[in-house]
Amino acid sequence: MIPFVASKNTLVLVKSRGVYGSAIVVVCVVQYNIENDRTGSEFSNPYQTFVHETGHAIDYKLGKNYDGVPYYSQGYNNNEFGKAIRGDVDTWAKSYKDEMLPEILKHMENKEYGAIWDKYGENIDLTTVIGGKKEYNIQWGYDRISRELEGLPSKSLTEISDIVTGATDGKCKVIVGHGEEYWRHKGMLETEAFAEMLSATLTNKDSLNVLKKYLPNAYSVFEKMIKEVL
Ligand SMILES: [Zn+2]
Repeated sequence: MIPFVASKNTLVLVKSRGVYGSAIVVVCVVQYNIENDRTGSEFSNPYQTFVHETGHAIDYKLGKNYDGVPYYSQGYNNNEFGKAIRGDVDTWAKSYKDEMLPEILKHMENKEYGAIWDKYGENIDLTTVIGGKKEYNIQWGYDRISRELEGLPSKSLTEISDIVTGATDGKCKVIVGHGEEYWRHKGMLETEAFAEMLSATLTNKDSLNVLKKYLPNAYSVFEKMIKEVL
């Protein structure tokens, strides 16, 4: 195991959940509350935040001089991890197509808009099936993912929620996680996902099962990344 505290890059924890600070991630520092983390919270198990932040430190220490990205999770094998995460979330969002598209088209044909709104909410975006186009709208999938996440127990949803928001540039709305602005910084998705997968693996089995279920390829890449440095 690699020591995680370097003199130049100290462990910096912020806000309630914490963020590891580096030259790249400029964060506003408040005190990390070890007492809270020792007992866990509504959304986390004991020491989950500590392991998450340690994950960022390990990720940073393992980073090589990649082309413009310092973290291991970002540069590893030409961004294999980031590509796998986006691919998994895309597959997940598209998995609702066969169920939703025929149903919505049928209702549109019969002008039964109320039935669509009743089932999928009044904010459902119907632009891709209006005016002769009959295409699946990926936003429908993102909305379904959001609903599915809302139904998870609170301790199982923080890690997957954060990753999904990052992978969809905030198009999935979730109740916990970093704000949309945060994800505009390049590489945040990979570094956060690395830290989330490490903390889930070590401290939260239910969350880990959720990550493995929805992000199977990304989790395999994570395991590969870890195995390569052990
Ligand atoms: Zn983090």
